[in-house]
Amino acid sequence: MRCDICESRLGRQERERHFQIGRSKLRFCDACERAKLHLTFLESYSARDHYGNTKKRRGASKASARSECQWVIEIRRILADVGAVPDGPDRFHEFTLETPVGRLGASVYGSGLFTRFRLPKAGQVFMAGQSNPYSGKWNWHAFNPTDREYWPRLIRKALVELVEYQPAPAFKAEIDAEAAAEDIRDAKRREFFAECDRERAAQAPAA
Ligand SMILES: [Zn+2]
Repeated sequence: MRCDICESRLGRQERERHFQIGRSKLRFCDACERAKLHLTFLESYSARDHYGNTKKRRGASKASARSECQWVIEIRRILADVGAVPDGPDRFHEFTLETPVGRLGASVYGSGLFTRFRLPKAGQVFMAGQSNPYSGKWNWHAFNPTDREYWPRLIRKALVELVEYQPAPAFKAEIDAEAAAEDIRDAKRREFFAECDRERAAQAPAA
């Protein structure tokens, strides 16, 4: 019996766990589960019907779910290669990449790579209109196997250019000032939430 993602042979304990999707039983090895690839696989392969039952998604196949997992592995590797770190200061994204024009948050799903510049202006200027000038969002949708094959090379190239980018001094100063203002807003938000927590703790009945 083999892992449905990496096709490695499963140990006894790994064989005992399975996800029942429609008529098929899916099994994943510990390594794939630790890497959360089973979530990518299940998201691609299964869907919920009107009654809340999980069944096989129409048109899905194990091969296409596996290809989405491969894409996630490949994009994570590219992110690591350019210096992105998991669980970094961008709490809304899986990865944080520090760049010469500020922080970029990035999350990878089977359906695409979703990133956001902390400072929308940074993306606006550097990416020449590819990123959203108001939100800083800069996304790469992978709708099909062709996208998943085509995008990685471009994504690597774009991210390498981004981390090696040398902003003009005036623009750098502008970006740094925005980042400093954003740091102050972040600190205020953290303080606000900490205060909410303290109030909640004070109101909680003593155990
Ligand atoms: Zn596996």
